[in-house]
Amino acid sequence: MLFPLNARPSLAYNTGGRRYGANRSNGTRKHAGCDLIAPIGTPIRAVDNGTVQAFYFFYHDTYALEIDHGEFTVRYGEVNRRLPPGIRVGASVLRGQHVANVGRLSGGSHMLHFEMYDNSATGPLTNRRNPPFQRRSDLIDPTPYLDAARIDGGDQAAAVLPQFITPWSFARMCFPPP
Ligand SMILES: [Zn+2]
Repeated sequence: MLFPLNARPSLAYNTGGRRYGANRSNGTRKHAGCDLIAPIGTPIRAVDNGTVQAFYFFYHDTYALEIDHGEFTVRYGEVNRRLPPGIRVGASVLRGQHVANVGRLSGGSHMLHFEMYDNSATGPLTNRRNPPFQRRSDLIDPTPYLDAARIDGGDQAAAVLPQFITPWSFARMCFPPP
């Protein structure tokens, strides 16, 4: 699997409110993915070959792109409404292809919210009746996959994304809801 951004975020995705399993909604549910903090507009790359399954409004002015990668499905969440040319439901995408851009939540924060499913189940990825994550039953922890993922482009392997933190986005970043 490729890393979905051109560089690793300088804020760790395995700790605090950004980690998988962090509390959300006052502890009534758990964070179903990892938050990869990145500047607004950062290109998002398909982590493997796949087929676009869905694209829809997600949260606070941002959208979500679902791609079936065969062995697993990824929900690329909190992305910009405008997609690169050719990215539409039913389109085939190649590993590393630019498929979306980091969006801006209405509160000002910005990240890729990254969820993974192992494709042992079917149906909508969000299932409010399935606590604690409120997601489809085949949701998996993306952390080890992200840890092992290669950055596309050798000279960028050591790069770390810069920070653009405003006071209000930092406050939201502590517990960004989805
Ligand atoms: Zn998130």
